[in-house]
Amino acid sequence: MLLEGKVALVTGSTSGIGLAIAKALAAEGAKLMINGFGDPAEIERECADLGALHDGADMSKADEIERMMRRFADELGGPDILINNAGIQHVSPVQDFPPEKWDAIMAINLSAVFHTTRLAVPGMKAKNWGRIINTASAHSLIASPDKSAYVAAKHGVAGFTKTVALETAQDGITVNCISPGYVWTPLVEKQIPDTMAARNLTREQVMNDVLLAAQPTKRFVTPEEVAALAVFLCRDEARSITGANLSVDGGWTAA
Ligand code: NAD
Repeated sequence: MLLEGKVALVTGSTSGIGLAIAKALAAEGAKLMINGFGDPAEIERECADLGALHDGADMSKADEIERMMRRFADELGGPDILINNAGIQHVSPVQDFPPEKWDAIMAINLSAVFHTTRLAVPGMKAKNWGRIINTASAHSLIASPDKSAYVAAKHGVAGFTKTVALETAQDGITVNCISPGYVWTPLVEKQIPDTMAARNLTREQVMNDVLLAAQPTKRFVTPEEVAALAVFLCRDEARSITGANLSVDGGWTAA
């Protein structure tokens, strides 16, 4: 119970990586607010399992983020741990990329990270303790075709992370990115048909020659492997790790 007494907000935690991080933080005793969309009965079950509150704020909307952060402060006292994890993807060559998809990816994957962070930092400074962990991506370090908005947003998250790490380095706050390789979640599953269309490939070719081929380990990263690093970064022993972009990508970005 390393995180007993800590309160944590995990955005985009009704599925995939965020849900695994929420479970791992709860297992260490953190009190949680989860966020994200999904089947209300399933969300209710997750909340009961984790002893968590749920807030359905749409992370593409600054006013909803502000309302959620106010609610968090009122009900739990302001986040000690902020996990910026909500994210979406769209796969399309740049000339066909729908501008509204670009805007949504920028809002959810990048601007939301700014909004939650700007509202969380004052409380963390007052406590002289805080952990901000942004789920970036291997695409914060390298590019892949047909993912211009995602790659741009995730590179932005990496730059934002380093900047805020410098601003808060003397306040007991660490700010880091975790950059996973491919993790088998709905986000990856949903991009398969668009990748097939954009590159004229079969489903098997996308699975084997695009997704698994990217990673020298030739296997998907699991959500739990990402969550384990998030928990480590919350520990007091990790206080000197700040401004880092830590890869959990099976060697993808080393290759
Ligand atoms: P996922 O689709 O399983 O989960 C996404 C979560 O974000 C869900 O809880 C969803 O409800 C929530 N969400 C989406 N739009 C939202 C919005 N507007 N407001 C609030 N919540 C919203 O996807 P995942 O793969 O677990 O992705 C989580 C994060 O990990 C994302 O930031 C993604 O970019 C990043 N990531 C994923 C992979 C991968 O291979 N799966 C790799 C690297 C990085």
